Amino acid sequence: MSNTSDKSIGLMDDKTQKFTEEENEGYLKIDRYNEDKIATIATHYKDILFQIGENPEREGLHKTPERVAKALQFLTHGYDADPEQILRSAMFKEEYSQMVVVKDIEVFSMCEHHMLPFFGKAHIAYIPNGHIVGLSKIPRVVDAFARRLQVQERLTNEIRDCIQKTLNPAGVAVVIECKHLCMSMRGIQKQNSVTTTSAFTGEFAQDKTRAEFLRLITANLH
Ligand SMILES: [Zn+2]
Repeated sequence: MSNTSDKSIGLMDDKTQKFTEEENEGYLKIDRYNEDKIATIATHYKDILFQIGENPEREGLHKTPERVAKALQFLTHGYDADPEQILRSAMFKEEYSQMVVVKDIEVFSMCEHHMLPFFGKAHIAYIPNGHIVGLSKIPRVVDAFARRLQVQERLTNEIRDCIQKTLNPAGVAVVIECKHLCMSMRGIQKQNSVTTTSAFTGEFAQDKTRAEFLRLITANLH
């Protein structure tokens, strides 16, 4: 990946793919479609509509298979991202060695067991060890791992490991809180339950450091 990839999540080597994006108040909107895959996925969704007792030809559903296929490609665009490269593209030498916390990062992912959304917030901290990273890159790393079929536990560990490996800080802390639609819409229907996962390295193994991080992410500073 070249420096121009700094604004994109990944490079498209396939010329059939269209790739547009816009920065909208800090939210990166990405539409990317592989036309061949869209057509194939849409064919399968048309059959699924039929199998659940619908008429895929009726007006309201006529374009649904294609729309669902495009939505699915968007929701899984993390497969095309290189999270380590996202961090490496904005690393700076800096002597700052206090905890850096980025909290309330929006998470949108899909559980790999039911392919239903789970969503919530991620809170991430690291303690620099010679390098810092551009703050906007942390949410992009979250997005790169979240926009795949996931389980929340693995998502948490992958984010931690990526930051630890790339930035080599004195410690990394990741806490993720999500609601899972596979729990609230089906099965046990615990409508308001939130799943919390956490992962730590280095100095965050110490109670004092971890407590400071937890205090910072629960403090209401606004
Ligand atoms: Zn699930």
